Amino acid sequence: MPERLQNFIDGAWRASSATQALNVINPASATVLAEVPLSPAQDVNLAVETAERAFISWRRTPVVDRVQPLFKLKMLLEEHRDELALSITDECGKTLSESKGEMQRAIENVETACGMPTLIQGTNCEDIAAGIDEHMIRQPLGVVAAITPFNFPGMIPFWFMPYAVAAGNCFLLKPSERVPITSQKLYALFQQADFPPGVVQLVNGGRDTVNAILDHPGIRAVSFVGSTATARYIYSRAAANGKRAQCQGGAKNPVVVMPDADMEMATRILADSAFGCAGQRCLAASVAITVGEARPGFIEQIVANAANRKVGYGAEPGIEMGPVISAESKTRIEGLIAKGASGGARILVDGRGRKIPEYEDGYFVFPTILDDVAPDAEAARTEIFGPVLSLMHASTIEEAIALVNGRSYGNMACIFTTDGANARRFRYEVNAGNVGINVGVAAPMSTFPFSGWGESFFGDLHAQAQHSVEFFTQTKIVVERWPREWSRKF
Ligand code: NAD
Repeated sequence: MPERLQNFIDGAWRASSATQALNVINPASATVLAEVPLSPAQDVNLAVETAERAFISWRRTPVVDRVQPLFKLKMLLEEHRDELALSITDECGKTLSESKGEMQRAIENVETACGMPTLIQGTNCEDIAAGIDEHMIRQPLGVVAAITPFNFPGMIPFWFMPYAVAAGNCFLLKPSERVPITSQKLYALFQQADFPPGVVQLVNGGRDTVNAILDHPGIRAVSFVGSTATARYIYSRAAANGKRAQCQGGAKNPVVVMPDADMEMATRILADSAFGCAGQRCLAASVAITVGEARPGFIEQIVANAANRKVGYGAEPGIEMGPVISAESKTRIEGLIAKGASGGARILVDGRGRKIPEYEDGYFVFPTILDDVAPDAEAARTEIFGPVLSLMHASTIEEAIALVNGRSYGNMACIFTTDGANARRFRYEVNAGNVGINVGVAAPMSTFPFSGWGESFFGDLHAQAQHSVEFFTQTKIVVERWPREWSRKF
């Protein structure tokens, strides 16, 4: 029998009261790793009740003391990085080096949140009127929750948790039911980092668990990362229940390749962006738009790169790309490739129907390139979330920017060029919250907000850095007058 995972509530591991559970599957081998309970509302209620109790003293704990468990956690995450990375690779499929890179980004968010004694400072103005001073202070909200996706089980919880708790809130995580094992390992480290009981809670589950979070009056704010359909739903239900919400959605990221680009660098970086993490990154390049003369040279090099990428179980040496997350995902991706071809695209590299020796049951889709994809074709508009790169061609940079801006998502747009004027124009005009210039994955570092636009984000304050501080605090204005001082004659 696979191990049944537990919730972490009030500083202790507890069995969920769930009657239903799902198998957690290693996508490379299709073997069952564990069983995840689909926790009902009563588990969420218990987590929120204990978090509300913990909040009473946690918010009174000086901020310099609140960051101490985070300093300890940084050391623990570094010590356990390899073990966490293997867990990510086993449940999510990416390669070990990708998993280690993911943990590095997680650690950086812990480091940034350790600056909370400075980050949380307010503002004031002495003598805003005669003898009257005005202050703006930031106070925590209470209990906050994050609902996270499958593709970064080690990193995405850290876009929220360190900032939330350092700012004085109590935090509840509902990880993706497809990759819940890494969270168990993270919470074991949270326990060692000495957060007081109730400050960091974990409730496993699926839709019903999410709905219980969205409807619970004790939860003040919800952070979400996942597909656009779910993001839109969560944003509206959370808002209808009077909660703050920041909801990051899906993406379809275009990359423009100018004729003056360093073609060797552009293709290498772009291939890593499109096929790294098997294309299951919200910042994966999924459409490449070559401009003018860039076309033949780019196609030749990107095809060679895609065809030679080493695919397999991500923990084995030399593997450059792992499987996609599930059998359904593989079927969906292969269906979209077929649809692309029947809609007029040419398949330059076909990643369907390939097997890996010793991992014949794994959910592998090899790198795939579709050429001559029409701007209104599904392959140009739908988030495929697999290792599929669609090629489009434009005659000028104007045309390329129009193609970039013709889509509904706005997570990322990149350009490869050696011309500063092209680069500036692109940066200035494209509708995307994260822009890369000669960069294939324009992922903001932890000291900057993760700025999705359009259908890639619902809300106003993004994850990470100062936006997180604002999201997880409410401002209080104090207007202050002291009669004896006020009436003093000068
Ligand atoms: P998903 O939307 O299926 O699931 C995300 C979370 O929502 C999970 O915890 C899941 O349990 C919950 N959920 C799913 N359907 C729900 C429903 N109907 N009601 C309530 N809760 C529900 O996303 P996923 O497949 O796990 O992740 C991949 C998606 O996440 C991609 O679209 C990707 O682009 C996106 N993503 C976006 C970013 C970003 O920064 N914008 C980052 C990473 C991933």
